[in-house]
Amino acid sequence: MLGTRTIENPDQMHELGLELGKALRAGDVLVLTGPLGAGKTTLTRGIGEGLGVRGPVTSPTFVLARTHPSLGEGPPLVHVDAYRLNSAVELDDLDIDFAHSVVVVEWGAGMLDGIVDSWLDVVIERPEGANAGELGDELIEPRTVTLTGHGERWSS
Ligand code: ADP
Ligand code: MG
Repeated sequence: MLGTRTIENPDQMHELGLELGKALRAGDVLVLTGPLGAGKTTLTRGIGEGLGVRGPVTSPTFVLARTHPSLGEGPPLVHVDAYRLNSAVELDDLDIDFAHSVVVVEWGAGMLDGIVDSWLDVVIERPEGANAGELGDELIEPRTVTLTGHGERWSS
C-alpha cells in the first residue's frame, strides 16, 4: 500500500480512496498534502465510501472538522481542513477522538507529530509536463500519490 503510484483521473483517485478506506481502522490518521484542486477531497470521498460512513463528504473548509458516522459497525470518519489552523496546538484544541475514529486531515502536514504516535502522509502532486485531457469542461490530469507511513502502525 505504501509507495508512489500514478493516478490518471478522478475515478482512479476515488478508487484509491476506496481501497484505503477498506483497510483503515479506528485510530488511523491520514495527512493529505497537495495544492488546491489536487484531489484531496476526492480521495477522502472514496475513503468515506470504503469505510462505509454517512456522506456526503465535501470540503470541510467552513467547519474545520466534520464527523461522518458509520452506517454499520465501523469507526466514524473525521474529516478536518487544517488550512486555517495556525498550529498543531489549534488542531489539538479541536478535541478529536483519535482513538475511536479514522481521521483525515487536509493541509495538516507537520501538525500531527506530538498529537498522535502514527500517521500516514499522503502527498498528491501534479507531475511536470503531464498530458492533460478534458472531460466536459473539466481538466483531467495525472497525479502522483505518495504514501509514507510514520510510527508503529505503518512500520510493516
Ligand atoms: P482538493 O481537495 O485537493 O482541493 P478536490 O478533490 O476538491 O481537490 O478537486 C480535485 C479536482 O481535480 C476535481 O475537480 C477533479 O475532477 C479534478 N481532477 C482532474 N484530474 C484528477 C486526478 N487525476 N485526480 C483527482 N482529481 C482530478
Ligand atoms: Mg479539499
